[in-house]
Amino acid sequence: MKDSFELVPGVPQALDAAVTRIIAPNAGLMTGPGTNTYLVGARELIVIDPGPDDESHIQAILSAAAAPIRWILCTHTHMDHAPGASKLKQLSGAPVAAMRPPHTDHDFQLSVDRVLLDGDVVETVDVSIRALHTPGHASNHLCYLSSRMLFTGDHIMQGSTVVIWPPDGNMRAYVDSLRNLLKVDLELLAPGHGHLISDPYGELNRLIDHRLRREDKVRQAVARVGARATVESLLPYAYDDVSKSLYKWAAMSLQAHLDKLVADGELRCEAGLYG
Ligand SMILES: [Zn+2]
Repeated sequence: MKDSFELVPGVPQALDAAVTRIIAPNAGLMTGPGTNTYLVGARELIVIDPGPDDESHIQAILSAAAAPIRWILCTHTHMDHAPGASKLKQLSGAPVAAMRPPHTDHDFQLSVDRVLLDGDVVETVDVSIRALHTPGHASNHLCYLSSRMLFTGDHIMQGSTVVIWPPDGNMRAYVDSLRNLLKVDLELLAPGHGHLISDPYGELNRLIDHRLRREDKVRQAVARVGARATVESLLPYAYDDVSKSLYKWAAMSLQAHLDKLVADGELRCEAGLYG
């Protein structure tokens, strides 16, 4: 399937007979062209990631829904994916299924009607969607598999790198979750931001490789800075290819890489000093 459609907020785009995408009007540095909301099914619908609590977007979802909405799924509970679920539930009557939100200041405290676990299946008359637990970007992140199309939320984005924001974000879990998807039969990735991705295994391997190469740069930075290295002192070496304007985000990813190296037993950490 090609996906050369323009990424225009608010305009429903049929990606195939059973999948329609509507982009929320929340474009930005962390959200790319905006959050992708997907409507899956024909005679009954499952909505994946209703997005932010935005009146025009919720109305666009309801207008595009040509059949009753039976389920509302969230890949995770960050503010650009989940708050719309509560409003859509009020207006459609459909229950919300997801993992429970962790208590962080960037998670929407979503009220979940059905708590999903890895392997759980959500069904309608014409669709069956399996939840796959993919922690890393968020501890409660689920990808959803329908036929061989995987709705990846923020586990895999198109056009930008996923931010791993510790402590709820976890680099070790993220790389493991990517590796686990290599064992799933996939044809197409439908990310939470950006276009469809038609080479799933190529993309998964590219993402794993990207993280491991960065991990290697972090190791080299630690070797260079020496004992008692801090996030601040490592940043210019580990992220010498990144603009200073992105250092705030890079520092989070660096922290996530350092946490992974400590968890892997490669590094020690005492009071924020690594070596
Ligand atoms: Zn997102």
